[in-house]
Amino acid sequence: MARQRKPPAAPTVTFWGATRTVTGSLHRVDAGDLVLLLDCGLFQGHRAESRHRNETFPFRPGDVDAVLLSHAHVDHCGNLPNLVRQGFAGPIYCTPATRALAAVMLGDAAKIQEEDAGYLNRKRGKGEPKVEPLYDGRDVYRTLLQLHAVPYDTPRSVGHGLEATFVNAGHLLGAAMIQLRLDTPTGERRLTFTGDRGRPGVPILRDPAPVPPCDLLVSESTYGGHTHEPVEETVERLGEVVSRTADRGGKVLIPAFSVGRTQTIVYFLHQLQKAGRLPEVPVYVDSPMAVRATEVFRAHPECFNDETLRMMAIDPDLFGERWVHYVDRVHDSIALNDRPGPCVIVSASGMCEAGRILHHLKHHIEDARTTILIAGFQAPDTLGRRLVERRPEVRILGRLFTVKAEVVVLNGLSAHADHGELLQGLRPLAGTTRQVRLVHGEPERAAALAEGLRAAGFADVAIPDRGESVTL
Ligand SMILES: [Zn+2]
Repeated sequence: MARQRKPPAAPTVTFWGATRTVTGSLHRVDAGDLVLLLDCGLFQGHRAESRHRNETFPFRPGDVDAVLLSHAHVDHCGNLPNLVRQGFAGPIYCTPATRALAAVMLGDAAKIQEEDAGYLNRKRGKGEPKVEPLYDGRDVYRTLLQLHAVPYDTPRSVGHGLEATFVNAGHLLGAAMIQLRLDTPTGERRLTFTGDRGRPGVPILRDPAPVPPCDLLVSESTYGGHTHEPVEETVERLGEVVSRTADRGGKVLIPAFSVGRTQTIVYFLHQLQKAGRLPEVPVYVDSPMAVRATEVFRAHPECFNDETLRMMAIDPDLFGERWVHYVDRVHDSIALNDRPGPCVIVSASGMCEAGRILHHLKHHIEDARTTILIAGFQAPDTLGRRLVERRPEVRILGRLFTVKAEVVVLNGLSAHADHGELLQGLRPLAGTTRQVRLVHGEPERAAALAEGLRAAGFADVAIPDRGESVTL
């Protein structure tokens, strides 16, 4: 970073990802002669478009000085190994828990990239060029060496005249909002990036901290205009769904991301079981990654709320390891397909785009006794979204299936703040924050939040297009 400094210009932020959509978080900050990135996530959607978007950076990766990473979900960190593969050699700053979780997430993402490339290569004719994975295990290894852990609430210099502070976002273990202080020719400027903001009052994690004050706010807007069901009601319904399905002899299939959502669901199922409000059915977590992620959770109690710490002191079996069957080997996963009688199967991926859940769906979606319980946000063009839309037929692994299973949507387990919770978190900034830019939301969601923020007194609220910039 010791290079010749030009006279500093006013800092700018350019939005390169998660614009009018919820995937591929990527924002570039130009401050003097320094280039920073906020997040470097995977774009997920149609295969060909995703591949192109993820492969091609709109800048030279070697020109980036540092990355500030909000959290370990792949739509925020999943393209880092590709950035490294293409020449980025600088530090990646994140919280300690994010560093640990990112190792699990990126290792798995590389495996998926390699499997995807292998699948495409098998379908290719002789003489056709081979498809390379976007990145592989070696790229992930190099990326992990570039991760620098910065504890919460501890300002850290990330370049000349630039200081970053990670503040608890209460969204995923280790998730942070990032406040950036920048020295400019006309004085200090502050930028706050919310990353993904969580909900107050959910189990395990501490409530999100107040949003750090700033001149420019870059906020997520995933659930703008939407109100989540209260957590208690959701848990109540979760218990009812399992009972109802068990009564008719069916299986409850819960597509869930292995990191975060799976632990939340297991936690609630365990609570219901301890309270005697769950029928005596076996619960399977069919995901090798969930096993590793749960270990990371246990190693980072600094992210837990007081209630969870108290409970852990009494019973350290927070994630029901004694009671839940964690399924690691493929062989045991396949054996579950023929297992008679009711049970609960939690399996990845969360949007039913890949992973073992597809095999469980294939085997049970045409059985009217089955319940498919959707507990997370489903992006457009995913199998999960089609199930939420109650399509009568869906395609799974190349074959058409009639949906006879009951589909239940439980949004109350979301790891994202809803409209009211976002407004409540952001409102204290009205009057001091001059500019707001909304990212990480589909257009109608972002528009609803923009309207709410204007009504709350924010003057300059906009929803940037891809490649649009704002000057601080
Ligand atoms: Zn997230």
